Amino acid sequence: MIEMQDIWKTYVDGTHALRGVSVRIDRNEFVYLVGPSGAGKSTFMKLIYREEVPTKGQLSVNGFNIGKLKPRKIPFVRRNIGVIFQDFRLLPKLTVFENVAFAMEVIEAPKRIIKKRTMEVLDLVGLKHKHASLPAQLSGGEQQRVSIARAIVNNPSVIVADEPTGNLDPETSMEIMALLEEINFRGSTIVMATHNRDIVNSLRKRVIAIENGLVVRDEARGEYGYEI
Ligand code: ADP
Ligand code: ADP
Repeated sequence: MIEMQDIWKTYVDGTHALRGVSVRIDRNEFVYLVGPSGAGKSTFMKLIYREEVPTKGQLSVNGFNIGKLKPRKIPFVRRNIGVIFQDFRLLPKLTVFENVAFAMEVIEAPKRIIKKRTMEVLDLVGLKHKHASLPAQLSGGEQQRVSIARAIVNNPSVIVADEPTGNLDPETSMEIMALLEEINFRGSTIVMATHNRDIVNSLRKRVIAIENGLVVRDEARGEYGYEI
């Protein structure tokens, strides 16, 4: 499903963010990406959703060869990948409903289906009753739920989450994790970068540790493994 073979990413200023990463993530896995700041975790995820392209190596996502992707095929790849950020990145002037519906409008889904599916995912994340609220009227945890609804509305096979609990208190973080586990249970592969030791050590899953652009550890049901 996601396969990296000797992936290198060198940014234009010469920074080697990834230096020969080979990893295979199968359908329906839940993977934590851990490692110090600057290790290359975000770059790893940006390559998956084609925000960046590899400098060298083979990357395939859902059968698409990402390095050689024709520009017109990019939307096909992106609609199969949902992205969740630490800072939610909701559109402040749009309602909860509109923020989620927007992701379906982009792929030109029919209006009737947009409405039905948007309310369905808002229900799944427990926010149907807040569909008319603006992001600023919601708590951090609720905003993250909206961003999760937006990420899953087009039924992606892969969800990439860059520190999704980074701005949330421990209790809210656990609620968000329960939701991500539910989404994984329903069939999406999840790749989640995190610095949250308690989560990684209590909800045991595959752990891939990256340091200095290299995979230094890859364990099924692994531990966080860092002091902070
Ligand atoms: P992490 O997510 O683990 O903190 P990143 O993937 O963000 O790591 O960064 C890996 C390395 O690449 C760091 O040295 C970072 O400064 C560098 N980097 C990230 N993005 C860019 C960029 N757009 N241009 C140049 N260097 C970058
Ligand atoms: P359900 O029966 O599933 O709750 P409704 O038909 O009652 O669905 O619609 C739920 C709400 O969705 C409506 O009250 C409306 O505020 C909201 N809604 C529907 N379409 C839009 C839209 N395009 N923009 C913003 N809100 C919308």
